[in-house]
Amino acid sequence: MWGAGLLNGLWITMRNLLRGPITVKYPHEKLDLPERARWAVAPKRFEDGSPRCTACMTCVRVCPDHILSLEVETREDKSKHIVRFDYEIGACMMCGLCVEACPFDAIEMSHEYELAVTDPKGLRRTLLADVDAASAAKHREEKPKAEGAAGEAGERADG
Ligand code: SF4
Ligand code: SF4
Repeated sequence: MWGAGLLNGLWITMRNLLRGPITVKYPHEKLDLPERARWAVAPKRFEDGSPRCTACMTCVRVCPDHILSLEVETREDKSKHIVRFDYEIGACMMCGLCVEACPFDAIEMSHEYELAVTDPKGLRRTLLADVDAASAAKHREEKPKAEGAAGEAGERADG
């Protein structure tokens, strides 16, 4: 009885001695993050580099921490200009509600996780500044292209 416990203990010790390491030498080595990992909020852009944000304010209203703010100017032709789109990253709980609520797929939870700063000013970020907001027409233009690409990918997968 006593011997069986001893052997079992030795077996567990040997097994762990021979097992490879399960940690990595961060920051020299980094693991790939899972696709659905949620870190800093980041703006998304069209292929031509212009922002997808239409300045609709949905994300600003939905954020439970009230840490997104948008300063927007509306021109005579009703187009919108984003003066600043600010984000207090230091208070963000990475809940992803702003991304889920955005009707234009204009922001994402990025995989940027090295967020420590030495200057507290770095806890407030400007996501967009002095750019024209995207129009509904621009989104309509992009939709058929995106659907076409998805269709081609599906056909390739079907063989
Ligand atoms: S992830 Fe959550 S807390 Fe952070 S900005 Fe978006 S809604 Fe607000
Ligand atoms: S990021 Fe999305 S929800 Fe927020 S203002 Fe821009 S378009 Fe609207």
